[in-house]
Amino acid sequence: MSKIPEQELLNPAQISQTLGITPNNIKRLTGEGYLEVQKQVNFKNGVMQLFTRTQAHGLIPAMPRIKQAWERYDNYHQGGNRMAKARTYRHQSYRNKVNRKEQFLNSINELSQDRQAILIAAYYLYYLNHYAKAGSSYLYDLKETVLHTLVKNYYHRDKCFKISFIEGTNKIALCPECRAKANNQHLSYLEYLDKTGGCLKCTREYKYYSLYEFTIGCQDYRFCFHTPYATAKKWFNKHTMPPRKECPEREGAYAFGRAIYDSEAMAVELIEVIDELQKFLAVFEIEPLINTY
Ligand SMILES: [Zn+2]
Repeated sequence: MSKIPEQELLNPAQISQTLGITPNNIKRLTGEGYLEVQKQVNFKNGVMQLFTRTQAHGLIPAMPRIKQAWERYDNYHQGGNRMAKARTYRHQSYRNKVNRKEQFLNSINELSQDRQAILIAAYYLYYLNHYAKAGSSYLYDLKETVLHTLVKNYYHRDKCFKISFIEGTNKIALCPECRAKANNQHLSYLEYLDKTGGCLKCTREYKYYSLYEFTIGCQDYRFCFHTPYATAKKWFNKHTMPPRKECPEREGAYAFGRAIYDSEAMAVELIEVIDELQKFLAVFEIEPLINTY
């Protein structure tokens, strides 16, 4: 295969924008043979697939037909009424999202530049987290970069940005001997671990289930993000170690006291999310991780 120039390759955010679909529907297109993965880029937290611009653009005229076929398939398999309701709901949710974004940007208008920047970053980080959780784990690399940048530039400087450390247990993997014992006693590995705690030969990953909790609370908005202990421990020294807290709060975004709905969460396009977060990073001279042009 001849080498394809980089500007001829599109990432999932660019494909979603070009074809008017969600990142999850890209999987549908590849599964049905309309789109081929040309290249895989390894991120720390997952793999990002790339596709050719030519193939994506060639699909544009076929998309209305493909979307209709998906609709028929979903109606058949999941019930027409339910799907019609879901579509009406999606449309409403799209309009809500546009309104809410406007509302959000207006409500923070009066704040200092710094506060606006941190809140906008938190707002888009919340969406990014949703996309990452929905199956695009490579996006966690961008989440980590944004959180690390917030730590470096805002922690201990702005009181709306708080961090806590939540201590969790170690991860234990049973050694072959303990696995054999568990099998003999007809116990699952988890049951055996609960009963015995394993032996000294079992491997332990120290504080594996510990995490850092980042909260950004300002005006009527509150955002909460988590990062594993192993990822973020190197961001702090003994003078900046975040205080301990007993148990984590739910990760998410809260406006006026209520959690933002999933429909709201999926409504902001991935390309906009990446672009806005990378604009935030650019202020601190951090190069973009993912192309958005
Ligand atoms: Zn053991």
